[in-house]
Amino acid sequence: MIVGIVGLGLIGGSLGLELRSQGYRVLGVSRQAATCERAIIRGAVDAAGVDYSLLATADLIFLCPPLQAIPITVAQLLPHLHPQAILTDVGSVKGPIVEAIAPLWPRFIGGHPMAGTADQGIEAAHLGLFRDAPYILTPTPTTPPDCVAAMTAIIEVLGSHLYTCSPADHDQAVAAISHLPVFVSAALIASCEQESNPQVRKLAQAFASSGFRDTSRVGGGNPELGRMMAQYNATALGRSLRAYRDRLDHLITQLEAQDWDNLEAFLTTTAAARPAYVAPHAPPSPPTHQPGPAGGGL
Ligand code: NAP
Repeated sequence: MIVGIVGLGLIGGSLGLELRSQGYRVLGVSRQAATCERAIIRGAVDAAGVDYSLLATADLIFLCPPLQAIPITVAQLLPHLHPQAILTDVGSVKGPIVEAIAPLWPRFIGGHPMAGTADQGIEAAHLGLFRDAPYILTPTPTTPPDCVAAMTAIIEVLGSHLYTCSPADHDQAVAAISHLPVFVSAALIASCEQESNPQVRKLAQAFASSGFRDTSRVGGGNPELGRMMAQYNATALGRSLRAYRDRLDHLITQLEAQDWDNLEAFLTTTAAARPAYVAPHAPPSPPTHQPGPAGGGL
């Protein structure tokens, strides 16, 4: 099987490194010629260039540019694909992507490897990125079964855990565990900054330690990425933010009522619930979870 990769950055480059190490022939297309050269030198691709015709022989193509560039890359790629080629993307939001691409190419299946680092670009690509990480596929009722089978086999090769769900369920789940934390964390930083007494604010900055570092980390990251999450996953993120606001309102009510018993009971419940989200790959198996060979992050 010949694999094609569009967008030779962290995810695209890491896919190339992994698949080449497993004997696949990998062809790459990226926006900049210099990136293509680096991808070849780094061993992420057998050949690469800026021209989409390079992917005419590819059997399975991963779309790995930034989220907002996926639809335009598809438009440029389609005239060059052979009729049986399977198309998949790695975008971290699925609803709008599947909606835009599935009608254009029937052999398209949405995907999302939940693996990443804070770094970007081809230099950040590395072997093993997908090992033990969840890899979500979002087939629709019209997705051909052989496309699901081909992706299932590749995900096994990557050493990821395969999950299958609808694009809407995917987007709501990532809104809750990936996108909501960014905005909660940003709001936390903003609320500290809102302190009107400069002396208190200075003290808070001096006292802040590991707890604040942990809870504020994702809110202090790349603003463009946060914007993209909000823009592409607005409905699901809005639902998660409202649920979060409801919990905060509830806590304020308990606090003002000095309802310490119920407040402690709430914290007992959340302490018991947390391991299901953060224990090393021991989430409850949903009905659609198909166990892969191994267990990972965004
Ligand atoms: P990245 O490191 O910035 O890589 C994206 C690459 O796409 C860039 O190196 C750029 O290459 C290329 N590119 C940009 N516009 C392009 C275009 N119009 N046509 C072709 N190539 C283009 O980003 P990434 O972190 O790998 O993310 C890529 C995708 O993976 C995104 O859709 C994101 O949602 C998804 N994802 C990211 C993570 C994560 O944690 N980073 C995790 C899971 C999924 P040039 O250097 O040639 O310009």
